Amino acid sequence: SKILKGFESPYNATVVNKMNDAGAVMLGKLNMDEFAMGSSTENSSVQKTANPWDLNCVPGGSSGGAAASVSANTAVISIGSDTGGSIRQPAAFCGCVGLKPTYGRVSRYGLVAFASSLDQIGPFTKDIEDSALMMNVLSGRDEYDATSADIPVPDYRDTLGQDVAGLKIGLPKEYFTDALGDEMRSKVEAAVEVLKGQGATIVDVELPHTDYGIAVYYIIATAEASANLARFDGVRYGHRSADAKDVKEMYTLTKSEGFGPEVQRRIMLGTYVLSSGYYDAYYLKAQKVRALIRRDFDRAFEKCDVIVTPTTPSAAFEFGAKSQDPLEMYLNDIYTSTVNLAGVPAISMPCGLTDAKLPAGLQIIGKPFAEAEIFRVAHAYEQNRGFDMGIAPAGKV
Ligand code: GLN
Repeated sequence: SKILKGFESPYNATVVNKMNDAGAVMLGKLNMDEFAMGSSTENSSVQKTANPWDLNCVPGGSSGGAAASVSANTAVISIGSDTGGSIRQPAAFCGCVGLKPTYGRVSRYGLVAFASSLDQIGPFTKDIEDSALMMNVLSGRDEYDATSADIPVPDYRDTLGQDVAGLKIGLPKEYFTDALGDEMRSKVEAAVEVLKGQGATIVDVELPHTDYGIAVYYIIATAEASANLARFDGVRYGHRSADAKDVKEMYTLTKSEGFGPEVQRRIMLGTYVLSSGYYDAYYLKAQKVRALIRRDFDRAFEKCDVIVTPTTPSAAFEFGAKSQDPLEMYLNDIYTSTVNLAGVPAISMPCGLTDAKLPAGLQIIGKPFAEAEIFRVAHAYEQNRGFDMGIAPAGKV
């Protein structure tokens, strides 16, 4: 964000320290939508990032640079954050693996807060084994993040290679409606067949409040963002307008100059839904529906071990295709944002290429802190899917 232009962090995020301690070689920072708000990286305040499979298409977002860097072979692994889909959706668009861990699994100390009840940090990798290795490094309690859980971290490699015979895979009918493109549907159905062939049992599950996901997400996320972004006021750090005559003008000008249009839109929406008179109708109502969404997952997981869905309704789109219509852009999160609202973990992994040679993403959702179970299923699919994703055209040297 321009509001942080020239700002240098005085300390490392916990995940960065953990990667350094594990011997990782840091190559650099990656492009993203400003303050992680977006689904295409077109809201970046600095530059454009293209999709390595088709340079006319977006890489997804908000962690578009992180996904594109792995798919374009410029980095082996990368790190991003996911508030409503920002790891899984770009991983799906770029044909790599992206995991959003359980809320509380990875410390967020040092992550710029967007929506604190939803944000999680997670890895982008080329395959499932690397994702498991990354989670061995990133996971665990951190005294600097009170929301990080004090739950033992298993060796995530342990479930790799275990078969899926007898495992119950839930398919929620609410994810397979007309909103899902035909090509995506057939790729996901083929992936389910592969798992069935490995001995998994397929069960129908219901997530009846799925339809409310986007509305609830965009109320809660914007409300929390408006509170979190209040700290960028020109007083403490970052950009300060040079033209202000008094303190009130300093706040207004600083924010108008420093924040891009989408960030301003979110702050205004969030302030509105929290304002007296509208709080009950929007924010409180959204919190209640969030509880129902969470309950949907609890109930579904009584019937199955993991839930399998598409990550996105369609493959990567061209630059500009949705940037004029915020609602159209928000609909990208239809299959991912409920996962954040429920706090459960989910991975996106490639399940083939469309006719236009763009990657399709398969989402595997797990019970809280059951990342190992996700890896087990994801690895079984990866090893038996019968095709090689190959290398993105822009990644070939
Ligand atoms: N696309 C969603 C948004 O714009 C999700 C962003 C994210 O997960 N950081 O809010």
